[in-house]
Amino acid sequence: MYNAKAYSAANATSPLASTTIARREPTDHDVQIEILFCGICHSDLHTVRDEWHDAFPTQFPCVPGHEIVGRVTKVGSAVTKFKPGDLGAVGCLVDSDRTCPDCQAGLEQFCAGMTLTYNSPDKYLGGVTYGGYSDSVVVDEHFVLRVPANLSLAGAAPLLCAGITTYSPMRHWGVTKGKKVGVVGLGGLGHMGVKFADALGAHVVAFTTTPAKRDDALRLGADEVVVSRNADEMRKHAGSFDFILDAVSAEHDINAYIHLLRHDGNITLVGAPEKPLPVSAFGLLFGRRSLSGSLIGGIAETQEMLDFCGAHNITADVEVIPMQKVNEAYERLLRSDVKYRFSIDMASLKSE
Ligand code: NAP
Ligand code: ZN
Repeated sequence: MYNAKAYSAANATSPLASTTIARREPTDHDVQIEILFCGICHSDLHTVRDEWHDAFPTQFPCVPGHEIVGRVTKVGSAVTKFKPGDLGAVGCLVDSDRTCPDCQAGLEQFCAGMTLTYNSPDKYLGGVTYGGYSDSVVVDEHFVLRVPANLSLAGAAPLLCAGITTYSPMRHWGVTKGKKVGVVGLGGLGHMGVKFADALGAHVVAFTTTPAKRDDALRLGADEVVVSRNADEMRKHAGSFDFILDAVSAEHDINAYIHLLRHDGNITLVGAPEKPLPVSAFGLLFGRRSLSGSLIGGIAETQEMLDFCGAHNITADVEVIPMQKVNEAYERLLRSDVKYRFSIDMASLKSE
């Protein structure tokens, strides 16, 4: 065991603060990574404030962070994919049973025995796993991803959650040229959704509650932008979408979007608001429309997404902040004031 610097929350109402945590020494299959950048996902905020208490109670202290890129500093004797000095990245998963049908199918995110990067039981050290708001992490090489060399590291970090969470459902639901695709909520996930839908060739419509994001949405790759609080603008798109990705973090009217789907169209929720969303049956019955969810993506698909980003030069639009500004960043997330992902420069932890 060794000590790592980190930021943790002591309880659901306390701000994140500097701390020291224990990390395991790398075992034979482990990779130790010096973390260079870690994105701030809205899931970090939901977890730190214990907003998902009924489904996933938060164990405190909590060290969030699952959008990790860094430099490999040490590898175990059986590691074949990485050597010291390589770039390595870690997303939301650090372990799974590797044998169940989901794992065999490359869907580790659905494995009953999967271990999340933070707030999951830690089978090595006891307690819970600690995430990327830290200067280092130790992870089994199966869960460490390769980062294409042409991508900026600060902008690549958010690909590990915001990237795969939007890429995976778009691939699953067949987003391609000729499809009309909506993306709801221009935050960290939504802005990646716009970039991917555009790169996959679709006609992309961005839905936002923030009129000031209109120009950015077009720059990010949207063909049209709809301010969702404007009922007339919404009505113009009734019954026309093949696929809509809903990446909103708070309560909102999902029925308004279900009505925008064509027959057999699908709306997939990736946003995970604290409270249940009421759904009107009729919106689904008429037109045989469907409503689904999607959870991050498996390890092989995450690598595929990173390689796709390397080939298309796609990264998140980031505002780089020092670790010391994390509490302020959380307040701004709650005001939808992020363009479009905070990425923490972990060099800032050295002064702690
Ligand atoms: P974020 O950066 O805070 O973006 C959320 C966006 O939602 C905001 O920028 C805003 O966009 C819109 N929004 C916020 N409050 C709203 C409201 N009251 N009504 C309508 N729109 C509102 O969050 P994120 O990191 O992208 O995460 C989004 C959600 O996805 C979170 O719930 C997160 O936990 C979840 N998530 C799920 C997965 C998964 O695997 N399924 C993975 C990661 C995250 P506009 O200003 O454009 O309206
Ligand atoms: Zn996330």
